[in-house]
Amino acid sequence: MAEIKQLSPQDISKIAAGEVIERPASVLKELLENAVDAGARTVRVEFEGAGSGLLRVTDDGCGMSPRNLRAACRRHTTSKITAFSDLDSLATFGFRGEALFSIAAVSRLELSSCTHEPGAAGVRLELEGGRTVSESPAPPVPGTAVSVRDLFFNTPARLKFLKSPATERAHLLRVAEECALANPGVSFHVYAEKKRVYALAAGPVAAQGILARAREIMGSAADGFLHAGSPQDGITVFLSAPGGMVARRDLQFFFVNRRPVSAKTLSQALYKAYEGRRDNAKHPACVIFLELDPASFDVNVHPQKKEVRFRDESAVFSAVYQTAGKALLAALAEGTQQAAVREPEEPEGYFVKPPDRSGRPDRSGQAGPESGSAPKPPERELPGAPRETVSDNGFEPAFFEPYRKSGSANDIIKAASGADAQWDRTAADPAWWAPPYRFLGQLDRSYLLFECAAGLMIMDQHAAQERVLFEQYLAQFERGRLAVQRLMLAVNIEMPASAVENLMRWKDWLATAGFELERSGPKTVLAHSAPGIFELDDAGITAFIESAAEMLGDPVKCAEKVRRELVAMTACKRAVKAHDRLGESEALRLLRDLKRCENGLNCPHGRPTITVQPVAELARRFRRG
Ligand code: ADP
Ligand code: MG
Repeated sequence: MAEIKQLSPQDISKIAAGEVIERPASVLKELLENAVDAGARTVRVEFEGAGSGLLRVTDDGCGMSPRNLRAACRRHTTSKITAFSDLDSLATFGFRGEALFSIAAVSRLELSSCTHEPGAAGVRLELEGGRTVSESPAPPVPGTAVSVRDLFFNTPARLKFLKSPATERAHLLRVAEECALANPGVSFHVYAEKKRVYALAAGPVAAQGILARAREIMGSAADGFLHAGSPQDGITVFLSAPGGMVARRDLQFFFVNRRPVSAKTLSQALYKAYEGRRDNAKHPACVIFLELDPASFDVNVHPQKKEVRFRDESAVFSAVYQTAGKALLAALAEGTQQAAVREPEEPEGYFVKPPDRSGRPDRSGQAGPESGSAPKPPERELPGAPRETVSDNGFEPAFFEPYRKSGSANDIIKAASGADAQWDRTAADPAWWAPPYRFLGQLDRSYLLFECAAGLMIMDQHAAQERVLFEQYLAQFERGRLAVQRLMLAVNIEMPASAVENLMRWKDWLATAGFELERSGPKTVLAHSAPGIFELDDAGITAFIESAAEMLGDPVKCAEKVRRELVAMTACKRAVKAHDRLGESEALRLLRDLKRCENGLNCPHGRPTITVQPVAELARRFRRG
C-alpha cells in the first residue's frame, strides 16, 4: 500500500487556487471587485495574450499601506470582515479573503499601492507562484495596480483547459461589461491586446447613468429601454420594449447587490413577463438589479460561478415578473396614446394609397421600398414551368404540369448519389401527391388551397417556403456553389465587445455559408454579403448575425452537417415572412418546389406543410355519405 504523505504548502495553495481561479476572466472578476470595493472612481483594465500573458487592473481607490499590502496576499486576509457577526452577510458577497492569495499561487504577480494619506509611501510587491520575490518602493500614486503575468505557468494542466484566445477574450470582456453596467458611477477604460475597447465616462448612479452605460455596451439594443422599480423597491429593471427585442439571448444582465449573477428563476420570470408579446426568435435585452438581504441568497454554490440560489424563489420570481410587467404595461399604454397623437401626422396621400405597414418586403416581384440595400436577384425562370397566367384571385384556373425529374438542385444531388429511386416510387406516394392541381385561393394570407385528385389540399405556405429554402440552400452549400448576394450597403451591426469576439471565431466558416463579416470596430461588425436564396432584408441579416455566435457556439452542435442545417433553419426563419399575399403562379411554383424536396411534407422544424381533406370526409360532414 502506498504511503500517505503530507502535501507541501505550495501544492495546497495551488489546489485552493483551482477552486477560485478557473480562467483569466475569473482573475479579472476578482480584481475588478476589489477595485470597486476600494471605492475607485476610475478603473483601467488591460490584457494581452487573452489574459494569460498579462492582465492588469489599475484603480484610484483607497490603496493599501505597505503592511496591508503584505497581508493582502496571505490566505484568509480581508479588510471586509471585522466582526464575526459580519461573516454571514459578507461571506455571501464572495469576501473570502482568498482571491489575491489564490491568484498569487498560480501566476507571477506584481502589486503596487499607495494610500491617499498625505505623505504616504508607495510600495511594490512581486510574487512568483505565491512566494514573495521582492519588495521595493513605488511612486506615491494613490490607488492600486495589480499585474498578473503568466497565469497558470506552474499548473500546466489548468493551462490546457483554457479555450481559444478569442473565447477567453470574450469571457474577459463580458466580465468587464458586467462590472461596468453595475457601476455606472465608475469610469472604465478597457484595452484588449493594446487596443482600446471601452472608454466609459462616469455617470450618475441613477436610471439615467445605467441607461447611458447600457447604450454604450449593448448598442442600439438598449435604445428604447423601458424602466420600472427603484433601489427603494429592492428591484430596478431596464428592459426591451416589446418592439425592441433582439435575436440574441446574451444581452440579459442580472445583478444581486450589484454583483452579476445568473439563475433560472430570474430568466424565467423575465420571459414570463413577455409571454404573448414575443415571437420565438426574439429575446428581451435587460439590466435588472435586485437588492436583497444577504441572508436571503447564496452565491457560493460554486466559488467562481455566479449561479445564485434564493431562499424564497417565488418571492424573487414575482418581484421580477411584476416589475418587468409593469414596465411593459406602461409602455403599451403610452404606445396607444402616441399612436392616437401621431395618426394625423401621416404623410400626405395616406388616404390615397395606404402604405404597407407590416414592414415586410413585398415578395410578389416588385421590390418594396424597404428592400433598398439588398437588391433581389432577378426572378428565376424555372425549368419546366408552364407559362402561367397570373391571377391573384384564383378565377383563372391553371392546371399544373406533371412533375418532371429535372432542374432542381435536389435532383442533381440525387442523381449523383444514386438515390433517385425515391422519386420513381410513385406507388408509395399518397394519391393526392400526384397532379393535376387547381389553385383555389389563399386563406388568411397563410394557407394555400388546392383542389387535387383526393379532395381539398391545404398548404401552410410559411412552412412550405421554409422547407423549400432550407433544402435549396443546403444543396447549394453541399455543391460548393452558394449563390451569394453582395450587399451594396454593408449592414452595420452593433453588439457588446465580448459578443464581437465570440462572433469573429466563426468569421471564416460563416463566409463559406454566404455571410461575409468584417470587424469594423470593437463593438461593430459589418455584414457584406448574405446567401442570395434567402433574399434577407437588413433586419433579417442583423437578426441572423445576432444569433449566429450563440447558435454556432454550442459545442454539442458542432458537427459540420448540423452546423449547416442550423444556419439554413435560422436563415429560413428570417427569410420567410408570414402573411405574404401569394397569387396563383407563386402558389403553384411553391407546390412544385415543395414536391421536389426530399422531405416536402414537413417544414425544417418538423411541422407538416400539407394536409388533405378527402372529398369523402366532406361528404360525411355534410351527411351525404
Ligand atoms: P477579499 O476581497 O475577499 O477581502 P482579496 O484577497 O480579494 O479578499 O483581497 C484581500 C484584501 O486586500 C481586501 O480585503 C482589501 O483590504 C485589500 N485589497 C485588495 N485589492 C485592493 C485594491 N484594489 N485596493 C485596495 N485594497 C485592496
Ligand atoms: Mg476580493
